[in-house]
Amino acid sequence: MNQLIRCINCDEIFLKTPYDQWPEYECYSGPSSEPLRIIDRDDYQDFLKNHRGHQLENLNILEDSFVSEKDYSEPVKISYFRATNGKERFVIKKFRGKIDEPLKYQLIAGDYSLKLLNIKIQSEEIAKQLRVEFKATPFPQIKIDAFIKLYQHIAETIDMKKLERVSEESHNPLEIYYKMSDIGLAYLLRNCHNIFKGQEYLYIEEFIHRHKDDGVLLLKAKYKIQITERGRMKKKPASMVTSIEVGKIVEKK
Ligand SMILES: [Zn+2]
Repeated sequence: MNQLIRCINCDEIFLKTPYDQWPEYECYSGPSSEPLRIIDRDDYQDFLKNHRGHQLENLNILEDSFVSEKDYSEPVKISYFRATNGKERFVIKKFRGKIDEPLKYQLIAGDYSLKLLNIKIQSEEIAKQLRVEFKATPFPQIKIDAFIKLYQHIAETIDMKKLERVSEESHNPLEIYYKMSDIGLAYLLRNCHNIFKGQEYLYIEEFIHRHKDDGVLLLKAKYKIQITERGRMKKKPASMVTSIEVGKIVEKK
């Protein structure tokens, strides 16, 4: 099991995983048939050595608190998760510069929150879906545009708090899908009478019912990660050295 250890003196952390004690095999990319060289590594022992005499504590990782800025499949990215020592809360920043570099962890005293940037309808997807489904009896482009404009207007004026989140598979942790509210849908249907007449209206009504729960009529919200640090509101004068910095200086000698 993973164990997260914090050095209180240095505010540095170490994530102890079962892999830390595995030897690392160094690969040679030459034509040589030399056997692989095994490098002994024990990162945890290195961490203990670097923080000898310091006060260490265990942090508990808060489940379901992982969030990152890029797609799940992206290997080089910054992600964050929450951890606590029971008294204070921390954000752990997990990152690596290049794909072949080991992961690094940084401790931030504070918390993160997700800030809504915008919520939009899926205009292109709606237009595409309308063209695909009504190939035999296509809607005039002007009506498709009017429908999208109407739906966009509803999305902009709707109360975000009343929208239901959909567990739609998103490839990005900061893109979340929401279902249009019943009030919004009723308004959409009523106003579609001004755009579509007769059979056309029946088609669009069916289309709305088909796609409102899991399809192109879902609203897509974009969020941003906001980190709030504790006790870093004021800049300290240069002459003031904190105990954390003292710990670091002592250790380096
Ligand atoms: Zn330390």
